Amino acid sequence: MLKTDTLWEATTKYKRTYPFLSDHVTADVVIIGGGFTGIAASYYLQKQGVRTVVLEQHTIGWGASGRNGGMMNTGYKLSASALINRWGVDEAKRLDQYALDSIQAVERIASEHQIDCSIRKSGHVALSKNKKKAKDFERERELILKHFNREVEVLTDDALQQEVNSDFYQVGFLDPKSYGFHPLNYVRGLAEVTADLGAEIYEQTKAMDIKKSGQFFIVSSEKGKVTAKELIFATDGYSNKIEPELHKGVLPISSFLVATEKLDEQLLSTLIPNNRMLFDTINLTNYFRQTPDSRIIFGGSGIGYPAKKKYFNELYSKLTTVFPELSGVSIDYQWGGLIGATIDKFPVIGRTTQGAYYSVGYTGHGASQSTLHGQLLAQCILREERINKTFENTPLKSIPLYNQKKFLVSSANLYFRLLDKLN
Ligand SMILES: Cc1cc2nc3c(=O)[nH]c(=O)nc-3n(C[C@H](O)[C@H](O)[C@H](O)COP(=O)(O)OP(=O)(O)OC[C@H]3O[C@@H](n4cnc5c(N)ncnc54)[C@H](O)[C@@H]3O)c2cc1C
Repeated sequence: MLKTDTLWEATTKYKRTYPFLSDHVTADVVIIGGGFTGIAASYYLQKQGVRTVVLEQHTIGWGASGRNGGMMNTGYKLSASALINRWGVDEAKRLDQYALDSIQAVERIASEHQIDCSIRKSGHVALSKNKKKAKDFERERELILKHFNREVEVLTDDALQQEVNSDFYQVGFLDPKSYGFHPLNYVRGLAEVTADLGAEIYEQTKAMDIKKSGQFFIVSSEKGKVTAKELIFATDGYSNKIEPELHKGVLPISSFLVATEKLDEQLLSTLIPNNRMLFDTINLTNYFRQTPDSRIIFGGSGIGYPAKKKYFNELYSKLTTVFPELSGVSIDYQWGGLIGATIDKFPVIGRTTQGAYYSVGYTGHGASQSTLHGQLLAQCILREERINKTFENTPLKSIPLYNQKKFLVSSANLYFRLLDKLN
C-alpha cells in the first residue's frame, strides 16, 4: 500500500524520542531546528563542554534532513566556473576542498560513533539529454583538473550507458568522490550521540517567541522557555516569521520523491550498474539513485507546495521515461520537503541584528555541508579560528517581494519549466 511517510522514516534504525519542553531551562546555547545543521552544531559544542538545548517543532530530522535524496555530492549548486568567476581561483579551490572535507566529516563521525547510515562512496553522474551540454561539461572538467587538481570524466555513448542504462540522457559528468547515505539514520544517530554527550533535545517544541534580556536570549515555546547567552537558527527552508531576517532571505523550494517497490538486484544493476548518485542539469532538477534496501528513489524539484497527486504522477511518468523497464512498477512511498535557497544559490552563515547566529541556504546541496556548517557555527560561538570564512563573508540578501513568496515560487517554477522545455 502507498505510504506518504518517507522511506527513510519507515526504515530508520534510530527511534529514540525526546520530550517536549514543559519547563524553564537554561543553557549556554539554544538551537532552533533539529536537522543536520542544528544537531551538528550541538554535537561540536557539546564536545567542547558547551551546554546546548535543541528545540525541534516536530521530530529530529523531520525537515529536509530526513526527507532528502541522501546524496552527498561534491561541489556546490554553483559550478566550478561560477565559483572561480565569483571568488577567483584560490578561494574557489579552498571552497572545493571544503565541500570534500564536509563529506569526510560525515564519514568520520559515522565511523567514530558507529552510526549505521549505509554511507558509501558511490560517485555521482550529472546528466543531460542535450548533447550540446558536452561542451560545458568538458570546460568544467578542464577547470577542475587544472585548478582543483581533481580527475572527473565526461561520459557519452557506451561509457554513459555503463552508468545509467537509459536512452534518455546523451551526456554525463562523473565525479567519483561523492557519497550516498541514509540521511535520517545519520541525523537521528548523531542526535543520540549528542544527547549522550549531554545535549538537551526537545521534540514537538516549536519556538514561538524570542526576546533579548540584557545579554540573554529567552526563547519561548507553548509550554516552556529556554534562557541562553547564544542562539542559533538552524531552520533553513522551514525558516519563518519568528526571525524576519531569515524569512526575507531564504526562499523555500519544494522537492518531491517517489520510492519504487523493492526491485530485483539483477534489474537494479542493469539500470544503474555502478550504483552512482544521479541527477540532471536542468533548472527543475530530477535526481535518482538506488537505496540501501534495493529500490529506486526518483525526485524532482520546484513544482509547488504542499504535495499534490499530480506532482507524484509527473515523477512517475519521468521515472518511466528514463527507465521504460520500470513501467508498471509500484510506488511504495512518496513524500516532499522544503529546500532553503538563497538568491546567490550559495549557503550563508551570519548573525541577526539581535546577535543570533544562523546557517541557511544550502540550495539543495546541504546533505554533507550542513555538518561542517554546524562546526563553523560552533567555532563562531567559541570565538575560534574558522576552517572557512567565505560563508560568513557572504551576505544574506533579501528576496525581492519576499512577502509574495508563494507567488514568486510558482512564477519561478513556470519560468524554469519553460526554459527546461526549450533546452
Ligand atoms: C526533498 C529534498 C531532497 C533533497 N535532496 C538532497 C540531496 O540529495 N543532497 C543534498 O545535498 N541536499 C539535498 N536536499 C537539501 C538538504 O536536505 C538540506 O540542505 C539539509 O537537510 C538542510 O539541513 P538543515 O538542518 O539546515 O535544515 P532542515 O533539515 O530543514 O531542518 C530545519 C528544522 O527546523 C525546524 N524548525 C523550523 N522552525 C522551527 C521553530 N520555530 N521551532 C522549532 N523547530 C523549527 C523544522 O521542523 C526542521 O526540522 C534535499 C532537500 C529536500 C527537501
